[in-house]
Amino acid sequence: MRSLVLIGHGSHHHGESARATQQVAEALRGRGLAGHLPYDEVLEGYWQQEPGLRQVLRTVAYSDVTVVPVFLSEGYVTETVLPRELGLGHQGPVPTGGVVRVLGGRRVRYTRPLGAHPGMADAIAAQARDTLPEGTDPADVTLLLLAARPGNAALETHAQALRERGQFAGVEVVLESREALTPESHAASAVPLSEWPSRVEAGQAVLVPFLTHLGKHAAERLQQALAQAAERFPQAPPLHVGGPVGEHPAVAEVVLALAAEGREDERGGDIDQAHAEAWAALRHLAERGGRLGEVLLTPYGGLFELRHTLDEGRATLDLQTVVTPEGLRDLTARDEAGRWRPIRTWRTLPRGWRAVLSPADLRLGLELLYPAVIEESYAHEHRRLHWTPWMSTARRQTGTLARVQRATPDQVDTVAAQVCASCLRTRLWAGHTLGQTIFSGVPGGLPCAEACTVLLAAVRDEVGREAMGSGD
Ligand code: SF4
Repeated sequence: MRSLVLIGHGSHHHGESARATQQVAEALRGRGLAGHLPYDEVLEGYWQQEPGLRQVLRTVAYSDVTVVPVFLSEGYVTETVLPRELGLGHQGPVPTGGVVRVLGGRRVRYTRPLGAHPGMADAIAAQARDTLPEGTDPADVTLLLLAARPGNAALETHAQALRERGQFAGVEVVLESREALTPESHAASAVPLSEWPSRVEAGQAVLVPFLTHLGKHAAERLQQALAQAAERFPQAPPLHVGGPVGEHPAVAEVVLALAAEGREDERGGDIDQAHAEAWAALRHLAERGGRLGEVLLTPYGGLFELRHTLDEGRATLDLQTVVTPEGLRDLTARDEAGRWRPIRTWRTLPRGWRAVLSPADLRLGLELLYPAVIEESYAHEHRRLHWTPWMSTARRQTGTLARVQRATPDQVDTVAAQVCASCLRTRLWAGHTLGQTIFSGVPGGLPCAEACTVLLAAVRDEVGREAMGSGD
């Protein structure tokens, strides 16, 4: 029995950076339902939204866990931040076969990032072919691979592999903007996207962004660069613009290939007993009906209905109904004003929906609605939840977040009072106490074991503002 965990970037501000990870996870879960997956569950975790990296390993059901970063380049995030936040005690390049650690009784294998696998060349080629009009011969087409910045060694490797296959007339790497050019990329004669026609001699071209997603601002920059190219090269050949490679269905194959690298023990692991106990207790609670955070959970003819507690008694016809865990996640991702909810336990759950889930879907539905809440609440109820004091969280931060180490206790308290004001969780890490949890009938009894990344970012910004104000 084994768990597969996909790690995405995520965002404090929007849902776009999680989309590729969500799509792959959904595709793999679909295969699991059809019995074509060598994993018994597929979960998601994110660097900058919930479920966070510190939470996600608490939510796995089995003791054999494979963690695949859905990132396209190897570097600081995949070699420092993710291993550190997952508690792997590893820093630096990840070997083929991954880094294996035993954490909390689970055997966790952390793989290279998605972009490093040779199979990405197939995903790129598939995205290019799907973008071209039907009947186009790729031999007449130059493939342009869009990179956000230079120096992605994996992308250069894929570009070279595609050149060697000879399927396209040519394969070129173009950079998002002229500003991204460095002396090294100049030396390698990279060009910005706005000059792409200078790399295409004849025929047509197809552009595939080597990105997991194309955010709003990146899409605007892309359109601007293409408009500049059109102005500068009025005789440019036709260009077909594809979606980011991270959103192509072929990526699911690459994730599975990456996850299989170095997997030696074909028996898999065992059921994690603490996890199984927590979900058995939740199932018991759900069968009686009850409240969990802002949600009303009611047995519903062999199924379970979830809705906002303030919608209790509202006619079902007045509510938008979803029947899948992912549908529940999407309906509750934004508040009623349309603002993104990076922390799902903020008291901003929108009203006007209901989810009807099968017993088999209840766990995933609740994980997507309130990530890690069931496991952490159950552990706290039984005095087994380990919380991390602020100073420990602050000390392990690197990059721009390392600035939080300079925050005074007063600054942390002040910022937390604002950021956490609308959160259902109780800050154990700040010394607050929580006597009872959802498992003893207190709907808002949810523990917070560690400062989340939204709070860390807010403290970092506060320290920066204060330093600017004092002229440091
Ligand atoms: S740090 Fe604050 S906002 Fe973040 S999860 Fe904990 S209580 Fe909620």
